[in-house]
Amino acid sequence: MAYRKILLEDDPVLRKHSKEVVIFDDNLKTLFADLDETMKKADGSGISAVQVGILKRAFIVADRKEKVYCVNPTILSQSGTYNDKIEGCLSLPGKCGLVKRPNEVEAKYQDLDGNWHQRKFVGWIAKAFCHEYDHLDGILYPDRAEKMFDSYEDYYKYRSKHKENK
Ligand SMILES: [Zn+2]
Repeated sequence: MAYRKILLEDDPVLRKHSKEVVIFDDNLKTLFADLDETMKKADGSGISAVQVGILKRAFIVADRKEKVYCVNPTILSQSGTYNDKIEGCLSLPGKCGLVKRPNEVEAKYQDLDGNWHQRKFVGWIAKAFCHEYDHLDGILYPDRAEKMFDSYEDYYKYRSKHKENK
């Protein structure tokens, strides 16, 4: 396993469309092992291959309970609204923003051996799934954000003011 450099916001590669994975070999397994290590080191809960410069439709999403390796994912349906809109990205270190995301996502994807899976993601991991899925089409969360913050500190200030005004 190896740590790979994470591309930052302004890198034009992040705006490209990733290509479908057709070969499920050891290179793919190595890519995922590297993504996993990079995500852990950067303290993230999701990472897409494009973020390390590999234009493949592949990402990892994780929450406290599980970690899912997704290849060639498709969102079949989505519903609800996740109650916490704050979102960040390893490619935009320090920043955060408010993004409306679904609470439930029905998705299908392949695993590292090419087997198809279909399942529902609920809550935080559904939101993370949508975020990573966007990366595959060159979309970054500020494109969808209703409000952006340069730091979490700014967000906390905004949130406390927002509460006082209610
Ligand atoms: Zn991201």
